[in-house]
Amino acid sequence: MAHIKLQNIEKRFGDVVAVKDFNLEIEDKEFVVFLGPSGCGKTTTLRLIAGLEHPEVGDILIDGHRVNDLSPADRDIAFVFQFYALYPHLSVYDNIAFPLKAVKVEKSEIDEQVKKVAKILQIADVLNRKPSVLSGGEMQRVALGRAMVRQPKVYLLDEPMANLDAKLRIDTRAEIKRLQHEIGATTIFVTHDQVEAMSLADRIAVIHQGVLQQIGAPHEVYNKPKSLFVAGFMGMPAMNLLDAELTSHEGKTALQLSHTDVLLELSQQQQSHLNANTQKKDCVLGIRPEHISASRKPIGREIAADVHLIEPLGSVNILDLLLGTHQDTQESILLRVRTHPTFQVEVGDTIWLDFDDDQMHLFDRETEQAIW
Ligand code: ATP
Repeated sequence: MAHIKLQNIEKRFGDVVAVKDFNLEIEDKEFVVFLGPSGCGKTTTLRLIAGLEHPEVGDILIDGHRVNDLSPADRDIAFVFQFYALYPHLSVYDNIAFPLKAVKVEKSEIDEQVKKVAKILQIADVLNRKPSVLSGGEMQRVALGRAMVRQPKVYLLDEPMANLDAKLRIDTRAEIKRLQHEIGATTIFVTHDQVEAMSLADRIAVIHQGVLQQIGAPHEVYNKPKSLFVAGFMGMPAMNLLDAELTSHEGKTALQLSHTDVLLELSQQQQSHLNANTQKKDCVLGIRPEHISASRKPIGREIAADVHLIEPLGSVNILDLLLGTHQDTQESILLRVRTHPTFQVEVGDTIWLDFDDDQMHLFDRETEQAIW
């Protein structure tokens, strides 16, 4: 059992507020990923849970017990940090076996455990080596192995795969997920890689400037971002975020995309989300590249755009488009669209677009919060 609760946590380093009014509950056996850009407070939050930092404000509870004053050793937590600290004088085998030897587990049991995790992490052939002759990726896996043999109540993993090459990262990712389900330990995993976050997490906690922006299942955070930050951060390529103004057109509410002549009439459902508080004129329209359809002939809303750049990614193409040169300002905006490679276009071609009504997001430009 390990249920973790962070209550109104605040942590400062001098003038820097690294973690701000942070509230989060993590269920027993849950796999939560802390996701956010460099410096947003992910590691500090993890170190607070581990007991390596202490909050100025707030409480940390594990299984209902306040642990603010408990030492790291008394919290039954295993952590693997970005910068692995291996014992240089011990072999890989002994490094992994160390936590089990410390609590006097039987030799045969230690041997079985070490060999099992070494196989999972693909380091069985380096068990006799010393850390000084390992590659960065191997060292990282040894550090992971040392945490895995312990079977603690909680795992805290801080970018534990940062030094692995792309293929090994994907393999190890799958193994970590499988193993976490098997062991059933509550796990918090820190990364700034959103693909890693999406593939691993039961829930993703998106953090920005020390503030928890949104917590939810990967599909929720991806499909229903609550703020402009989350919308722009999740997704590769990123969601198109276009400045727009709410306006009235033939008695209906419409969105005028800034710097273009594009006017999007809102559906009944979209209009119903606009209440008195959200009749703000300045907003931002969000639409993902995969939710825009492209055609050589006018379709749907008849939005014309010029092809500026083509990025072939194999299974899909990403087109950078210049949308609607405004008659007065002569400015245009850049829009990214995902197309099938069979959709053949050249730079300079004019193509026609339509936006998927159900996949449009609207944000208040001032508060940066989602209107829908
Ligand atoms: P990264 O992905 O780069 O590891 P992060 O999201 O984990 O970043 P933190 O390491 O938690 O971010 O840092 C949050 C903020 O607190 C940053 O502005 C950082 O410079 C600051 N900070 C962290 N540790 C200390 C420290 N010991 N002394 C002073 N400032 C610190």
